[in-house]
Amino acid sequence: MKSQIIIIGGGASALMLASLLPKNSVTLLESNAKLGAKILVSGGGKCNITNVKMGTEYYLGDADFVAPSLKVFNEKSLLKWLERQRLEPMLRKETQYFCKDSAKELLDIFTKESKKQNIVLQEKVVSVSKRDDIFYVKTQKKTYTARIVVVASGGLSFPKLGASDIGYEIAKSFGHSIVKTAPALVGFTVQKEQFFFKELSGVSTEVCIRVGEHECKGALLFAHKGLSGPAVLDASLYWEKGKIEIDFLPDFSWKSIRDSKKKLSSLLPLPKRMSKAFLVQLELEDKPYNTLTKEELDRLDTLSYYLFAPAGTFGYGKAEVTKGGVSTVEVDAYTMMSKKDDRLYFLGEVLDVTGRLGGYNFQWAFSSAYSCAQSIKREKNENKIK
Ligand SMILES: Cc1cc2nc3c(=O)[nH]c(=O)nc-3n(C[C@H](O)[C@H](O)[C@H](O)COP(=O)(O)OP(=O)(O)OC[C@H]3O[C@@H](n4cnc5c(N)ncnc54)[C@H](O)[C@@H]3O)c2cc1C
Repeated sequence: MKSQIIIIGGGASALMLASLLPKNSVTLLESNAKLGAKILVSGGGKCNITNVKMGTEYYLGDADFVAPSLKVFNEKSLLKWLERQRLEPMLRKETQYFCKDSAKELLDIFTKESKKQNIVLQEKVVSVSKRDDIFYVKTQKKTYTARIVVVASGGLSFPKLGASDIGYEIAKSFGHSIVKTAPALVGFTVQKEQFFFKELSGVSTEVCIRVGEHECKGALLFAHKGLSGPAVLDASLYWEKGKIEIDFLPDFSWKSIRDSKKKLSSLLPLPKRMSKAFLVQLELEDKPYNTLTKEELDRLDTLSYYLFAPAGTFGYGKAEVTKGGVSTVEVDAYTMMSKKDDRLYFLGEVLDVTGRLGGYNFQWAFSSAYSCAQSIKREKNENKIK
């Protein structure tokens, strides 16, 4: 089958676009042997699809670029679309929508929907060029031609699930600039002074992490390699280098323990193993609060603003997303079409738009796909594409 539209990638944004476009209009090229590999592993296997709290403030990137797509296809539109496909996500953790039992519920919808298109698996794209209004999409096996090319090949995170830099390479070959990429929604590795964190591996506690002007609240998990957990992943979105500040006692008032005769390790609202390790690090004896000197109290207080510089992150192998990417300055915010070349589109994570933890990245993949679908349908209706 010869299609006018080629989509590069078979992940969340590509599958939504293929579902929204007319039957037999698309050839989708995916390097993996299966579609939607990331959907299946996402959200702990249940896929955090979207969030009740939606807005540009949950995204890193240009708010003016993100806004139009979120406006035409927001979380409510997405939920309605899913409802029409007989999927009713479950609200968990107050604001996050997940599949009820497994992420396969969402992937099954896309697999069914995409049957109306020409899906080619194990087809790795290596380059795209254009001559006389025709795109030539070269794969490891052959060359496809098309009138429209949509780059939905994602970022660099999780190479074992098919991630590649092809989207950036295609963008560059059409004159686009790439905003420096880095792993995001990922754990932090630590420097020598924080090696004692590793002894706390498996311990989890509620924190508030401050990175510049951003605050990330939630659980922090001490991991064998450093720090992980939702608050840390969120913080990694904003961290570039330098220090972060962790409040290990976000909702705690010292007043409540002032007169107690119990030892600090029993009084602090932290896992005991953690209290003990931090008391050692702060060179404090495990004794009642009211026996501490002014200088000791000041040292104890640093648990509310523990400052340290991460050594780095766990890297692309463990990062849920890639921040940076194809610069949104050169892409139209209403259609996702390249401003450098007509009928070349970029969707989802390959763009310089990154959401916080909580379903924001899938929402972006689906919202940007919707904007693109509307644009392609308009072009077709206006008979610009034969
Ligand atoms: C472990 C994990 C958990 C996550 N959990 C969540 C979550 O719960 N909620 C949320 O909102 N986000 C989550 N994310 C992020 C989310 O999965 C991505 O942001 C989203 O999938 C991006 O969609 P996309 O279509 O842009 O790219 P992708 O889904 O990455 O799809 C890109 C596709 O392109 C294919 N491809 C790459 N190179 C080529 C090539 N050369 N030729 C052909 N095909 C190619 C890839 O194989 C891939 O299938 C998670 C990510 C990970 C890794």
